[in-house]
Amino acid sequence: MPRPIIEPFRIKVVEPIHVTDGAQRALALEKAHYNLFGLAADEVMIDLLTDSGTGAMSAEQWAAMMRGDESYAGANSFFRLQEVTRALTGMPYIFPTHQGRAAERILCDALALKGQVVLSNGLFDTTRANIEAAGATGIDLAAADALVSRAPFAGDMDLAAFDKALQTHRGRVAMVVMTVTNNTVGGLPVSLRNMEEVAQRCREQKLFLVLDACRFAENAYRVFTDEPAIKKATLEATAQAFFSLADAFTMSAKKDAIVNIGGLLGVRDEALAERIRVELIRTEGFVTYGGLAGRDLDAMAQGLREVLNADYLAYRFAASSYLANGLSEAGWPVVLPAAAHAVYVDAGAALAHLPADHFPGQSLACALYLSGGIRSCEIGDLMFGAANGRRQLVRLALPRRVYTQSHVDYVAAVSRDVAAVKRHLPGLRVVSGPKSLRHFSAQLLPLAPFPRALIAA
Ligand SMILES: *Cc1c(COP(=O)(O)O)cnc(C)c1O
Repeated sequence: MPRPIIEPFRIKVVEPIHVTDGAQRALALEKAHYNLFGLAADEVMIDLLTDSGTGAMSAEQWAAMMRGDESYAGANSFFRLQEVTRALTGMPYIFPTHQGRAAERILCDALALKGQVVLSNGLFDTTRANIEAAGATGIDLAAADALVSRAPFAGDMDLAAFDKALQTHRGRVAMVVMTVTNNTVGGLPVSLRNMEEVAQRCREQKLFLVLDACRFAENAYRVFTDEPAIKKATLEATAQAFFSLADAFTMSAKKDAIVNIGGLLGVRDEALAERIRVELIRTEGFVTYGGLAGRDLDAMAQGLREVLNADYLAYRFAASSYLANGLSEAGWPVVLPAAAHAVYVDAGAALAHLPADHFPGQSLACALYLSGGIRSCEIGDLMFGAANGRRQLVRLALPRRVYTQSHVDYVAAVSRDVAAVKRHLPGLRVVSGPKSLRHFSAQLLPLAPFPRALIAA
């Protein structure tokens, strides 16, 4: 028997989990209008809603917070963050922002996208919303079979589709965005080879290439283990290689910088940096703090130093594979290979009795909550609106360094109980909700009651 890959940390501070019963959860879900974003955290036992900002900081990060310099301008914290970020990305102009989406908005503003097209291997929902708010159209070009191909780098840009789109939209392509890992497409990794191919086309056609680098470390680890001919000598060099090909990067530090809040924007071009400075000061804060406290910048700098640790990344992938395996043994179809940050269940395939407009993903997410207090996230037509042929997925995201193996065992056990009644899970309908980003606040109602067995367990 191979030895298990252990969590490479010990726990020094603990947070209690509030244990609920089925009746309490049924009431809470009704009050939340069958939208899991509406639940209070205390009503949740295992929170797999997102890996964003939900990680546990290390002792070194907490120590770094004490060193935070709260000077309004020119804080030491900023220079420490700038140094780490420049070394990683090679970008001379580094701007902190309060989140990744602020970095996106400011970049979209500074590039003047109106009337243009943005091509991507997969735009994250806020990235798409920012592009659309700037008057441009975002087009996703992942392979059509990405979620079922089981290819090691199914998050890649489909190069044939990319070439075709470059032809079709010639003269109107404002920028190209490569998202690593590809969050909207199963969190699947992107190969360095693909990044190079995309970058080469961008160079030839003078197109601006942006790296959405939220999970750069998890992506680099996959390249390091699965792309032997292309990877660089070290994990760090492999991560650096992605940045070196881009003209700019945006990043939610709530992912691979392992902090609870923060974002980054980096560019190479001085004139562009100047436009960003103006917009950053107008909307986020002075250029050396960007809407964050000095201590946040120090925590981010330390997180960026820690995240490329090979033992940490090996554990991260081991944890998600273990969860994927547990769900799969319970009979749920999962997207493989499992991403580091989440496991995606194909609810559309598993709940074949529910059409897409009855939101099978939301039905499964509600059932996991009712049965075991697990909060997950629908990624399908509720999140994106009716889109042709989109898969109806449920994402179980793993916060960084938070849950242990027994928590994952519990999730697998709950998923088995839900699987036993899956044919009886009802669809849902939207009662009210906004047009844009509606999954955050939509109110829903089930079309029939959820099986009583779910809350009896
Ligand atoms: C989380 C995320 C963002 C947005 O970052 P926030 O910090 O949540 O604003 C952008 N792109 C991807 C791929 C993400 O996962």
